[in-house]
Amino acid sequence: QIQIRGLHKFYGAFEALHGIDLDVNAGEVVVIIGPSGSGKSTLIRCINLLEDYQRGEVLVEGDKVVRGRGLAKIRAEVGMVFQSFNLFPHLTALANVALGPVRVRHMARREAEACALALLDKVGLAQHAHKLPGQLSGGQQQRVAIARALAMEPKVLLFDEPTSALDPEMVGEVLDVMQQLARTGVTMVIVTHEMGFARRVADRVIFMEAGRVIEQAPPETFFTQPREERTRAFLQAIY
Ligand code: ATP
Ligand code: MG
Repeated sequence: QIQIRGLHKFYGAFEALHGIDLDVNAGEVVVIIGPSGSGKSTLIRCINLLEDYQRGEVLVEGDKVVRGRGLAKIRAEVGMVFQSFNLFPHLTALANVALGPVRVRHMARREAEACALALLDKVGLAQHAHKLPGQLSGGQQQRVAIARALAMEPKVLLFDEPTSALDPEMVGEVLDVMQQLARTGVTMVIVTHEMGFARRVADRVIFMEAGRVIEQAPPETFFTQPREERTRAFLQAIY
């Protein structure tokens, strides 16, 4: 479903991605881990072209991700959830979730709001639908952001450290929603430092360092028998 071939990304003269090859299959949940600055955010931002890349290619459902006519379609197919929620502060939770379908997919407002309410219910927030983001906790805001991404019926969902801006007591509620989603078969690529979550939910764990994929394996193998010395060192440092 996602094919990344020989992807090179430069920020000026600095090479942030040194030729990444990575395939993500439909329905697969891939968790990307690695030290700060290893290129995790850069990699997932190249999948929907929030970052331009210089060499190689990224394909989503066989369509090459490039600037131009096809990009809006790809952006609609690839949802993204950020560390910092990025909700519109002046819109209610319901309006935040309904906005994309109305604006981008030209859905009638009433229908979009009905769908939005169903999605907010799915993430446990039906009673909070009419609150503004500022009236919600961080964990609630992030669950609204997940509902908003789902409203576009994406084929792929990208998450960039969705729980790292949250107070510890709110991390679980967001991870629970993500775990439920993973079971519904949506393809997910998740950057996270939550190793317990990675172990429970990932089909495959990818370890990046200095702009390269160093190792990838199913979570059981990855956490109990990492092959690479650098992976072992990283796992030791965080446990
Ligand atoms: P973290 O765990 O801290 O979020 P990361 O693995 O997501 O790190 P990236 O944000 O992808 O890392 O950054 C990869 C490298 O690219 C880093 O060395 C970073 O300094 C550099 N970089 C990222 N964004 C830019 C930018 N806009 N301009 C220049 N360099 C950048
Ligand atoms: Mg990052």
